[in-house]
Amino acid sequence: MKRKIKEPPIMDVIGARVKDRPPRAQRSRLDDDDKLVIIWGLSRGWSAEKIARALPASGGTVKNFKAKILDDPGVVFELPVLVQSGPRSHDCQVCGEVRGSRLKGMRHVLAHIMPFEMARDIPLGDVEKPL
Ligand SMILES: [Zn+2]
Repeated sequence: MKRKIKEPPIMDVIGARVKDRPPRAQRSRLDDDDKLVIIWGLSRGWSAEKIARALPASGGTVKNFKAKILDDPGVVFELPVLVQSGPRSHDCQVCGEVRGSRLKGMRHVLAHIMPFEMARDIPLGDVEKPL
């Protein structure tokens, strides 16, 4: 019998993109789904070239977005990567783990896509938006 492996929540959004690789309409700008594919790729340790093939987009486009994230990690949280599911539950969409505060959740998400030391030390206080 085939065992079904539980997939992280992000796969509800980009699973078909990552697995089936449908042709992407030629656009100069990345949309949110494209950016989620990049974040997913970075979390898996994919090279910019591999991510670019998955989109598809140019390697330069991927590298530009990666540079933007390192310059201003707040752009990551304009995407649905962290979902509040309760007063003290913030669900990481990349892996499905839950953190007790938004700030801890944000650092957790960043740790998927950049070295832990960087994710730990990035100031995030001004990123939080009142809902
Ligand atoms: Zn996670």
